[in-house]
Amino acid sequence: MNTQLIEHLLSLPVQLVAVTKKHTKEEVDALYTLGVRTFGENRVQEFLEKYDPNYSWHIIGHLQTNKVKYIIDKVDMIESVDSLKLASEIEKQAKKIGKVQDILIELKVSDDPNKTGLPLEDLDDLLEKVDQMEHVRLRGLMCIASNTEDTQKIEHEFDTMHSLYHDLQQKRDHIDTLSMGMSHDYPIAIKHGANTIRVGTALFE
Ligand SMILES: *Cc1c(COP(=O)(O)O)cnc(C)c1O
Repeated sequence: MNTQLIEHLLSLPVQLVAVTKKHTKEEVDALYTLGVRTFGENRVQEFLEKYDPNYSWHIIGHLQTNKVKYIIDKVDMIESVDSLKLASEIEKQAKKIGKVQDILIELKVSDDPNKTGLPLEDLDDLLEKVDQMEHVRLRGLMCIASNTEDTQKIEHEFDTMHSLYHDLQQKRDHIDTLSMGMSHDYPIAIKHGANTIRVGTALFE
């Protein structure tokens, strides 16, 4: 565990989501002891095995609609909402348990065909629908930038996100989360407006 880096990240004026996929519950506990309070998991099965109600959890990976019912009472934030179908299912399941579920919309800013997220041109449509959902509260946007050495390209993607986030803040209440930046690009993300970073690998090196 990279204690020095973890302390550094906790001292930054952004929220750290410690990504604990492929790591054990014991490692999650060790991070908690160091002061980490929010954990990110990308797979439902693995999340359920590690889940601890005393910690705050974000789902950050692609979420199948048929899995929403297993996590809805356990997560503070679903960061990876990328379709109307998923948002509608969250609305349905949250309503059942009388919860208002915080979400982020994950946007696809990268041209990498393997990357997930909602295409930018579909954002307005989804926003309109989500606005009508009483058990879904949109808190902001999330993205995964291109995996490249080309810093300018990454900066451009983060700037695009920041500008969309800024527009959203002008038009809606409760928008306070711009989640971008991972182990290799979080310093760039912070410089370009991220207020939440999702760091995994680097914490454990
Ligand atoms: C794995 C993952 C991260 C963390 O990536 P690292 O490179 O390990 O820091 C962040 N966001 C998402 C969506 C992930 O799946």
